[in-house]
Amino acid sequence: MVKVYSLLNNKGGVTKTTTTVNLAYGLAREGRRVLVIDTDAQSNSTYSLLGDLDREPTLFEVLISGTKMADAIIPTNQENLFLIPGSINLSAADLLMASAAGRERKLARALAPVKDEFDYVLIDTPPNLGVLTVNAFIACTDVIIPIALTTYALIGISILESTMQELRENLDVELPVFGVVANLDDHTRLSADVLAAVREHFGDLVFNTVIPRNIKVEEAHNQIACLYDYAPNSTGAQAYTKLVKEVLQRAEGN
Ligand code: ADP
Ligand code: MG
Repeated sequence: MVKVYSLLNNKGGVTKTTTTVNLAYGLAREGRRVLVIDTDAQSNSTYSLLGDLDREPTLFEVLISGTKMADAIIPTNQENLFLIPGSINLSAADLLMASAAGRERKLARALAPVKDEFDYVLIDTPPNLGVLTVNAFIACTDVIIPIALTTYALIGISILESTMQELRENLDVELPVFGVVANLDDHTRLSADVLAAVREHFGDLVFNTVIPRNIKVEEAHNQIACLYDYAPNSTGAQAYTKLVKEVLQRAEGN
């Protein structure tokens, strides 16, 4: 059964995109077929995977013009890793989809005919709770919450959690949390305190692997490189490698 994970946190800069991309590379390198769907108008995961923001069709055409998802899937340089690109046009989605019937389920409907071609679908989301984020909630089987171990990491989380609860009640979705990824660990007292608070709040949902702040992670993104090739011995690559193992264990039990 395909796992569809939405990476959700209504704040920006909390490593949603970085975690999407590095999990995607990692799972693809473990032989799983992976599709990344970029629902963010800033399209950072599209840039990181392709280095090109001009490819069409994108998710915008799928959601707004009725292009088939199958026609928008493009391969990346990594074997087994495919992408539905994002586009700056997605910034108008809230407005354009405001009166569309079934607007919350457009992504789920578009994905349905192709999702079984993949083992994992990872949906990167924008830093707000607009229509695209709601579509990501509805289209996924589970939620992954990336959290930056910086000040006030938990403040936005209560909004995310109450939104999830409201969607569960109103739209008849289960929305289980698959896992919480703690990231940007600075090895400071502050990071340790925030990590303790995150573990206290989410318990065993927090992955054991904590991702350190490591410049190689950011460099790989900016150089449109795969972190595991770009800096295989970096603390960032090693941590993400462990995280991928934990994800596989949790998802597949092996
Ligand atoms: P979001 O998608 O939630 O807005 P990003 O994934 O874009 O967050 O991450 C925010 C910034 O932090 C980016 O510049 C990214 O390159 C950087 N970053 C993410 N993870 C790490 C890390 N482990 N070490 C250093 N920089 C990181
Ligand atoms: Mg992002």
